[in-house]
Amino acid sequence: MTPLHISTQFDAGAIEVLSLADPQDIQLNIRRDNASDFAQWFHFSLQGAAGVALSVRFLNAGQSAYPKGWAGYRAVASYDRQRWFRIDTQFDGQVLSFDFTPETQCIYFAYFEPYSYERHLDLIASVARCGHVTQERLGGTLDGRDMTLLRITDATAATSLAQKKKVWLIARQHPGEAMAEWFIEGFLQRLLDPADPVARVLLDKCVFHVVPNMNPDGAVRGNLRTNAAGANLNREWAAPSLEKSPEVFLVRQKMQQVGVDLCLDAHGDEALPYNFVAGCEGNPGYTPRLEALENSFKAAWLATCPDFQTAQGYGQTPLGQANPTLATNWVGQNFDCLALTIEMPFKDNANLPDVRVGWNGERSKKLGASVLLPLLAVVDQLR
Ligand SMILES: [Zn+2]
Repeated sequence: MTPLHISTQFDAGAIEVLSLADPQDIQLNIRRDNASDFAQWFHFSLQGAAGVALSVRFLNAGQSAYPKGWAGYRAVASYDRQRWFRIDTQFDGQVLSFDFTPETQCIYFAYFEPYSYERHLDLIASVARCGHVTQERLGGTLDGRDMTLLRITDATAATSLAQKKKVWLIARQHPGEAMAEWFIEGFLQRLLDPADPVARVLLDKCVFHVVPNMNPDGAVRGNLRTNAAGANLNREWAAPSLEKSPEVFLVRQKMQQVGVDLCLDAHGDEALPYNFVAGCEGNPGYTPRLEALENSFKAAWLATCPDFQTAQGYGQTPLGQANPTLATNWVGQNFDCLALTIEMPFKDNANLPDVRVGWNGERSKKLGASVLLPLLAVVDQLR
């Protein structure tokens, strides 16, 4: 029998191997982000196990960043790195484990369906060829990757540039939340579909500023939550620096140059099996106007997308108690505009579950496409 082998030297690869000697007792640890203590993301290949009954244990799962994320969680696996499926997974409060017999010699396991840096580059290259799209390099990350902004509008449409609403979408500040970039891919595909009437109206009325990946270094390094310097980017918005959080510094600077009338920040939540939004109601500057806009947006999304719901979420932050270092709170306060954090599940949407794949890339894309409808519902009221 070929000896078992685990590899992680690829995009977002991450796991620590403690013991591979016995297929019935494979012992692993979830790896920390490269410069912080957050640990939750894993992604590795296992070779030499065709037809072998494996018993895999993640011994330190109970000390991960979000132990509540493991209750009801099912790991994802793929033979071809294209189609990812869920496998039954147990968590006893300390150890995460699954039993599985691979069909072929090489199988990949991950915390969630990955969104690779190559796919990120492919996405940018493909949409940048559309006439409505301008690609802009805002600057570089600490590892030397590009911070790319896509500026999208129909310059030939009726609305003058000065009158167009400035709509921002940013994603993946937390790099392990790969669903956030799948969401952006689905959003861009629909926005750039010349046959879609909703997209055509929005491209007339808005200039979209889209940052598909706010944290490319963390994504490639296989981090859950931080960049190469260990910064949690969604706690950097009050005072970002080029040394520690250039990703936020560059995007924030561009926002200050062009303005913001609406901002959506896409994330994933480890624990809650639902899609939901969190607003900036805790900001000192939150007004009845912003509350009405937020309610209109949520009502329109609820009416048009069964994967969205409002019953489950983070709850309301009392007025004046917002954390000003979060993107949504900083943007909402500084631009007096509608700003929402979009949360998707790592597990599944419990209201509309799919036992084969759970929540995945394709479903995140559909949700990203669906957000055009609530945008259309509120666009004329944004200012
Ligand atoms: Zn997040």
